[in-house]
Amino acid sequence: MEHDLILAGGGLANSLIALRLAELRPDIKVTIIEQGPTIGGNHTWSSFGGDINEVQRAWTAPLFEHRWDHYEVRFPGLRRSLAEGYGSATSERLAAAVAKALPAERIITGAPIVAITPDSVQLADQRVLNARGVIDGRGQGPTKALDLRWQKFLGQEVELAAPHGLTGPVIMDATVPQLDGYRFVYTLPFGPKTVLIEDTYFSDGNDLSVDLLRRHLADYAASQGWTITRIIREEAGILPLGIGGDIDKFWDEGAAGIPRVGLAAGLFHPVTGYSFPDAVRTADLVASLGSLDSATIYRAVRDHSVRAWRKRWMYRLLNRMLFLAALPDERYRVLERFYEHGDDLVGRFYAADPRLADWRRILSGRPPLPVGRAASTLIRYELGLM
Ligand SMILES: Cc1cc2nc3c(=O)[nH]c(=O)nc-3n(C[C@H](O)[C@H](O)[C@H](O)COP(=O)(O)OP(=O)(O)OC[C@H]3O[C@@H](n4cnc5c(N)ncnc54)[C@H](O)[C@@H]3O)c2cc1C
Repeated sequence: MEHDLILAGGGLANSLIALRLAELRPDIKVTIIEQGPTIGGNHTWSSFGGDINEVQRAWTAPLFEHRWDHYEVRFPGLRRSLAEGYGSATSERLAAAVAKALPAERIITGAPIVAITPDSVQLADQRVLNARGVIDGRGQGPTKALDLRWQKFLGQEVELAAPHGLTGPVIMDATVPQLDGYRFVYTLPFGPKTVLIEDTYFSDGNDLSVDLLRRHLADYAASQGWTITRIIREEAGILPLGIGGDIDKFWDEGAAGIPRVGLAAGLFHPVTGYSFPDAVRTADLVASLGSLDSATIYRAVRDHSVRAWRKRWMYRLLNRMLFLAALPDERYRVLERFYEHGDDLVGRFYAADPRLADWRRILSGRPPLPVGRAASTLIRYELGLM
């Protein structure tokens, strides 16, 4: 079998590339290789309505299982509903879309990759596949070049004895006891009696005690007056949040000339850890390239990732306030203060597309932390003292 382009790793970013190419460039022979038993693993990928544009919303529409036209946030001193759409795509739908878009023999699962070059992929069973283009989308790897903190969570999709009464997602319920950094519970109502509840932490460390978080989820359900009758599914995640780093060094840590996408390319929102919108944009970028050889793709995605990283420096500054300047039990105040802004500003913030005036508004007014402590933390970080 011949291959024009091999997608190494059948996760979010590479699957979206496969879908976009199948739609716009059906002549390209694309093969996707995944170590797990299915494409896309076991995930729910959510995003805000304004994160992607109309065209992107249209081509990703089949991936979405749930959509809402508003969402809510809850803090000790603020509770509000925002008139911004929110939606959840699922790995089952992603796998089904890829299965529809590519011939079955071009979807290789249960096949760990052991080596990649710009024009070949070697599998654990010794097979070597060759192509003019190879894209590495194998997810987050270790890095010394980026300064990261973590969003850790355990989620359970549960069935309740009686309707939960929610009309839309609760993106952050930070009225819960603040433990291990900034803690909040995230809730998505999938059906009248079905709900995904995630116990989430913005933490300094990337350890996760699943048993403890299971107890917290049970306590939260009880505090809402919900009786869980069945746990349908469980998902855990430890997502990177950026506080600093050198994006060029990050790229130079990887093998030269092998294009990377998704988390492997540092393409995630520094404050939320979301990568769905970035993965959609990357798929559009790859599909727009004149030639799909590794050198061309590498130049384009590296350039795109470096520009996106640099453009997001203010987010990393905000994270420094959150993780370094705020005491752990003060962190919620930074977010609470942020949610006092209008729906439009919040929407642009999540879409990683804020205006200069937005930053002025975010950083002005009543500060959530003592100004002296915030300023000295930022200066000490710049001087490499922390
Ligand atoms: C539980 C969870 C929930 C999340 N929820 C959201 C959300 O709601 N919204 C959002 O925007 N982001 C979310 N994220 C964050 C982010 O979007 C995901 O981590 C996203 O899947 C990253 O995309 P990716 O393509 O870089 O990597 P992945 O989707 O992780 O794909 C990498 C793939 O490569 C495969 N692979 C790795 N090594 C090899 C190998 N040697 N050989 C073959 N295959 C290999 C893996 O098995 C995996 O399937 C979530 C993450 C997790 C873990």
